[in-house]
Amino acid sequence: MAETGPVRLVYCDIDGETGLDVQITSPSATVADLLKAMQYPADDKEVFKPLHKARYGVCAGCTYNCCKSNDIPVDLLSAQGMAQAAGLPFERFLRSHMRFDDSVLFPEFRRRPCPFLTGNLCAVYEHRALICRLYLCTPMSDRLEQLRLAVLLMGNGALRQTMVRMHMAPRLWGEKSLRQVAAGSLPGVWGEDMLDRMLHANPYLLGAQHYEVLLRDCCPVDLWQRLL
Ligand code: SF4
Ligand code: SF4
Repeated sequence: MAETGPVRLVYCDIDGETGLDVQITSPSATVADLLKAMQYPADDKEVFKPLHKARYGVCAGCTYNCCKSNDIPVDLLSAQGMAQAAGLPFERFLRSHMRFDDSVLFPEFRRRPCPFLTGNLCAVYEHRALICRLYLCTPMSDRLEQLRLAVLLMGNGALRQTMVRMHMAPRLWGEKSLRQVAAGSLPGVWGEDMLDRMLHANPYLLGAQHYEVLLRDCCPVDLWQRLL
């Protein structure tokens, strides 16, 4: 895999298929470094992608298209960027494009396929959601999966909390309910320490850009120790 700075993706065997693992070489690695690293396999036609029509190929123009079939949760930075690109005030964009009711934990696109999918291509590529930048159907190691999940928790949690502050959130989006749901059904990265960080020390809520958010600040301590 191409050299990409302090975050590097490497091939590994996962259940007999070629998958991806991650190496982090600096404690100062940021979310932007991870996003840059994830772009390489998305654009590499030699990387195994089991959902791709040809099983190997680039994501751009893929006709299976994860944008058609998946729920797409949205993070704060991309929602702000997409609202700006659409020329809409932020609140109006959220009300017209987002689903945010008691049945979802985080705001997601109201429509499926994604409203920005045009002819199998993304019409808001520069502003696409964190999940769109971090998702790949290629198999991944547990620690890369958990790193992606931790980053999504911060970004998507920031939009959720922003909507709480804007008094747009449904009743069950209160902190107590979130903790109850997390304790009952969500995987390890959702420990109390991570929920505290997402709710009360979330760098995206302070206006940080991806290049300002340290990966270590998104990760539980034990995950970070396994990554560095
Ligand atoms: S990640 Fe999505 S767009 Fe890329 S090959 Fe897989 S299904 Fe297609
Ligand atoms: S924002 Fe773009 S990449 Fe993300 S789901 Fe929509 S069309 Fe696909």
